[in-house]
Amino acid sequence: MFPALKRNNLSTLQVNLGYKCNQACSHCHVDAGPNRTEMMDDETIRLIPRIIEKYKISCLDITGGAPEIHNGFKNLILESNKLGIDIIDRCNLTILTEDGYEDLAQFLADQNVIVTASLPCYEKNNVDKQRGIGVFERSITALKELNKLGYGKNGSNLILNLVYNPIGPCLPPPQKSLELAYKRELLEKFNVYFNNLYTITNMPIKRFAKDLIAKGEYQNYNRLLLESFNSENIDNLMCKYIISVNWKGEIFDCDFNQQLGISINSKLKTLNEILNHDVEWPGKSITVGQHCYGCTAGSGSSCSGSLN
Ligand code: SF4
Ligand code: SF4
Repeated sequence: MFPALKRNNLSTLQVNLGYKCNQACSHCHVDAGPNRTEMMDDETIRLIPRIIEKYKISCLDITGGAPEIHNGFKNLILESNKLGIDIIDRCNLTILTEDGYEDLAQFLADQNVIVTASLPCYEKNNVDKQRGIGVFERSITALKELNKLGYGKNGSNLILNLVYNPIGPCLPPPQKSLELAYKRELLEKFNVYFNNLYTITNMPIKRFAKDLIAKGEYQNYNRLLLESFNSENIDNLMCKYIISVNWKGEIFDCDFNQQLGISINSKLKTLNEILNHDVEWPGKSITVGQHCYGCTAGSGSSCSGSLN
C-alpha cells in the first residue's frame, strides 16, 4: 500500500481551466482534445484571485487542455498579477501558432508569465508520433517566437521551461543530463534557448492508460512504477504543497486525483467552500492510491520535474 501522506504549507494553486485543446496527444492524462466542451465559468474564475489572497498562495499554475483557449485566460492573469505572485502557463506551444493567437506570446511576456511547455523530445519523429503530425515544427516556431521576446535567454527575466515525458512505457532518464542534451541539440539545430528541462513520468491513467492497455503493456508499466518506488521522493511530492482545481471549481490533492475523480479528504471540496471557511492545510491528510507510484518511481516526478 502507498504510504500515508500529509500536507505542508499550501504554496501553489493549480487551476485547470477546461479540457478543450487544439491537440489530442496519445499520452494525455486529461483526455483533452478539440471536441471537449468542459470550461470553467466566469463566476468560478473570479474566485481564484480571492483564494490566492486569502491563503497567501505564491504561485498560480494554469493548465488545461490548452488553457489559453479559455476566454477568461488573459483576465485571470491580469487580475492575479496584481497580487505579485508567480504565474505559470502550461503551454502546448502549438497554440501560439493557431489563428487568433498572434498576440499571445507578447501578452505572456508583458505579464512576465512563466511558460512551461511540453516538448517530449528534440527529435521531430518522436514528438509527432506522440503529439500529432506537424507538432514538432510548430513547436519550434513557437519557441523561436518566445526566444525573440527574451524567453529563455541569459540575462532575461522571462522564464521558459520545457517538459519531457517518455514516449513509451519507461521511466524518464536523469533530468540534468537530458537537459544538457536538449540544450545542445535545440541550440545547434534550431538556435532555440530555454531555461530548465522538467522530466515527468507518464501517469498510467486516462488516454495513456488506454494506449498501454491496447498495446498489452499496462500491467508491466504499473509493475515498473511499483518496483521503482523510491522513498526519498516522499518529502517532495507536489501534493504536499499544491491544490488542484477543476473546471467546476472542485478541489483535489493533485491534477491526477482530479482526473481520476478522487476526492480531497475534507468536508470543504470547492473553491467557494474554502473561500468561506478557513482551512489549516499543514497536517491535512492526502488521498493516495495505486497511481501515486507514478510520482515516487526512480528520480520522482512532479509538475516541476524530478524530485531528487
Ligand atoms: S497533453 Fe497537453 S497538448 Fe496534448 S492533448 Fe493533453 S492537454 Fe492538449
Ligand atoms: S498522484 Fe502524486 S501528487 Fe497526486 S496524491 Fe499521489 S503522490 Fe501525490
